[in-house]
Amino acid sequence: RTTQIGDSTLADWMNSATSGSGSGLPFLVQRTMARQINLINCIGKGRYGEVWKGSWQGEPVAVKVFASRDEQSWARETEIYNTVLLRHSNILGYIASDMTSRNSETQLWLVCYYHPHGSLYEFLQRKELDKHLMLQLCVTAASGIAHLHTDISGVCGKSAIAHRDIKSKNILVKDDLTCCIADLGLAVTHNPAEDKITIPKNNHRVGTKRYMPPEVLDETLNANSFESFKQADIYSFSLVLWEIARRCIAGGFVEEYNPPYYDVVNYDPSFEEMKKVVCTDGYRPVIPNRWSSDPSLSIVTKIMKEAWCKNPSARLTILRIKKSLLKAKDQLAPTVHEKMNVTPEKDPLITIP
Ligand code: ADP
Ligand code: MG
Ligand code: MG
Repeated sequence: RTTQIGDSTLADWMNSATSGSGSGLPFLVQRTMARQINLINCIGKGRYGEVWKGSWQGEPVAVKVFASRDEQSWARETEIYNTVLLRHSNILGYIASDMTSRNSETQLWLVCYYHPHGSLYEFLQRKELDKHLMLQLCVTAASGIAHLHTDISGVCGKSAIAHRDIKSKNILVKDDLTCCIADLGLAVTHNPAEDKITIPKNNHRVGTKRYMPPEVLDETLNANSFESFKQADIYSFSLVLWEIARRCIAGGFVEEYNPPYYDVVNYDPSFEEMKKVVCTDGYRPVIPNRWSSDPSLSIVTKIMKEAWCKNPSARLTILRIKKSLLKAKDQLAPTVHEKMNVTPEKDPLITIP
């Protein structure tokens, strides 16, 4: 059964679940979670409001606070996180959703694990990477996207999910310096059995202009084919790979952090500006010469070029990308930890027959 919270209004959802106590408070939403959480400080501001670090039963948590007018986004993100089998070490761990009232305003909360390193975007500004860490960030982010993109058939299977807003600000860095994918509010799902694509309602804006693939910019994306949405994610991910690669020290050189297309557009590029750069001029991020003299950076370069091409169907799939990155990682000399054979990194990959 597909629960279509994203398609109904919050009122519908609450009506179907009121406690009948006469308080008007919904049964499903008992405000217990929110009441048990102390908000400590604001750690992020995105499109739909603020993300706070909070404390719940002595544990740090991240609380994404939506205004009630953004209930559709909250409901969609809640719905996606409640997908069976979504739990994966490279997808942000979800705890609960709740609603509460603060400053006499209704707020919708999404409670998740808290990751002190913050987003990959912030991490890359602060840190230079050795090759091992570069590949680890790339592989783990790719694993998260691969898990989203894959449908798993079975009694309690999982639909395929396309993210639609892949960028370094929507990927978090965990304590063990692996990535997890966050911000699932724009995701579309695909049920292969019925070949049914579910696109969240109220979709006035999709994705971040800087990361939009050519087919979104020139409005040729075929929304009837789920493959199109996956291919769009691949383009956006290629730009993330480029952001990561720049921060990798090799032969004593490294580039400073910059967002993709920093050399051709300003802080907040318009749709038209991006369209001119990406579609009309066919421009793509510059590959520094030094990358070709390093084997790991050469592999990542090859992947990004085959992932940002104009023709969506010519792009690599995320499973291909993941495999190539894993191979590149295997070719590196083992790290001290690996040599000593301590805490081998486990990849909870679900192998699809
Ligand atoms: P939006 O949909 O508004 O963009 P996000 O879910 O992307 O919201 O969160 C916005 C920012 O908040 C992220 O870019 C990141 O910097 C920070 N953030 C979000 N979730 C967490 C978390 N679980 N741990 C640490 N930082 C987080
Ligand atoms: Mg975001
Ligand atoms: Mg978002």
